Amino acid sequence: MDIVEEYLKAGTNKGLYYGGAFQKSFGEQSIVVRNPATSEVFTTVPDAVENDVDAAVFAARAGYEIWSKIDAIDRAQYLRRFADIIAKNIPKLALLETLVTGRSIKEMRAQMARIPEWIEYFSGIAMGLEGESNVVKGGYVTITHYESLGPVALLTPWNHPILILVKKMAAALAAGNTCVIKPSELAPVSPLVLAALATQAGLPNGVVNVVTGGPVTGAALCGAEDIHYIDLTGGTATGRKVAAQAGERLVRSTMELGGKTPIIICEDTDLEGAIAGTLFAAFVASGQTCVSGARFIVHEKIYDRFTKDLAARADAITIGDPMADETQMGPVISMASQDRCTRMIAQAKADGAVQISGLEPAVLQAPFDKGFFIRPTILKDVKPHHKLFLEEVFGPVISVTPYKNETEALRLANTGNFGLGVSIWSQDIARAHRLSLGVRGGVVWLNDHHRNDPRSVWGGVRDSGFGKENGWDALKAYMTKKSVIVRTAPGHDDWFAGSTRYG
Ligand code: NAD
Repeated sequence: MDIVEEYLKAGTNKGLYYGGAFQKSFGEQSIVVRNPATSEVFTTVPDAVENDVDAAVFAARAGYEIWSKIDAIDRAQYLRRFADIIAKNIPKLALLETLVTGRSIKEMRAQMARIPEWIEYFSGIAMGLEGESNVVKGGYVTITHYESLGPVALLTPWNHPILILVKKMAAALAAGNTCVIKPSELAPVSPLVLAALATQAGLPNGVVNVVTGGPVTGAALCGAEDIHYIDLTGGTATGRKVAAQAGERLVRSTMELGGKTPIIICEDTDLEGAIAGTLFAAFVASGQTCVSGARFIVHEKIYDRFTKDLAARADAITIGDPMADETQMGPVISMASQDRCTRMIAQAKADGAVQISGLEPAVLQAPFDKGFFIRPTILKDVKPHHKLFLEEVFGPVISVTPYKNETEALRLANTGNFGLGVSIWSQDIARAHRLSLGVRGGVVWLNDHHRNDPRSVWGGVRDSGFGKENGWDALKAYMTKKSVIVRTAPGHDDWFAGSTRYG
């Protein structure tokens, strides 16, 4: 049976994936994976133990001995076949992502359609990677080569299980590395399927490997001796631990962490366009993206009209069965997430904020009455010291705060220590650009939000992490540059016989 179809059937558990095949875990424990739309158990996956991690890293080393020696032009052909197989499976992969994450099928179809682009892009630019050569002082030529690193660890979250993995994996593989993936314990299914599709596409065994499990498995992978790069997307608290472990081992790392994305709405904005765009920013993926528009900072002149119209649009969002074409927003990922959203709403109200949307509880028919649903919720008059203004909710709960002038808008936007996404809405391009220079963040959109492309560099600063996804920066991060210094000067020097040439 087709591997995606097999995993679409509830209860499929073929084990871990390494060395080009599914493998039984050395451990006895499994992790339960639920469908967040119904809270029913969808399947289980192994909770990988240290021996599993060692075996997967060993397989990745064996794969590396083959993969790293294939020329970038030939590697690109393998990767294009991988992209083609993913492209053929888009409808089924979208179903799988929806079943496990609860994200609406409309979202997942749109997202899956773009996945092959990352593989095509990185395999393409890897073919164009050129070293340099310099004629330098004293009769030397310095030549630089890019080299791959070895097996690398990719640790991913549950909110975009395939997209975030492919962003990392495409760069890592195109650079000539092999990978061991540790997907989120909440959404580990599609990464296993992707690894099997990589083998079907003809990638050598051991190039793509997956160990499922939670933080303990992740920590074991980061600690494995033959892992030479650690690329994490996850929460800031996780980032601190993983970066410390990478530092201890002197292994390079990328940390794509949390955020509290500000949206600045200027008084001259095109209101209709801004409301449509920021509704998407706030509530796509049920507000569960690292760049979710979480705190709206709105000019006082348009504050009342903007908040009223935004609340009306939010209340009109259709929530329910994520598999239904008409559903616009699914549940959040887990009961813990649902509880966190409920607590944050209650706290904001206790702090004095005013709830203006999502006032009616979600009433859904069975089996969705047991799902982890939260209605799109907007709280206005949130103050910069409120918890809702400062902490990541990771759910469809947003704050709105008025501002008087640009200085205040920037002060509000830069409150706290996150620095990931920002969007600025204004028809005055000079003002929008001026504000973009003043905000802290790694990705700033002007008059749009959330747009992502393999060529648009992505990454945060401060508590949102370091390192980049997308673009040449991501490819080069997965490589090291070696200098080869060639003597072209005639003869030789003998320092201890009186030569004075130095350096
Ligand atoms: P998480 O931090 O709980 O988990 C992320 C991954 O790290 C999982 O695979 C988890 O098992 C693993 N992990 C946890 N503790 C570990 C440890 N000590 N050692 C090794 N691995 C460990 O995050 P999550 O709940 O899956 O995802 C949500 C978070 O991710 C949010 O904070 C969100 O903002 C962030 N995120 C950031 C980006 C970005 O591009 N910056 C994108 C998406 C999500």
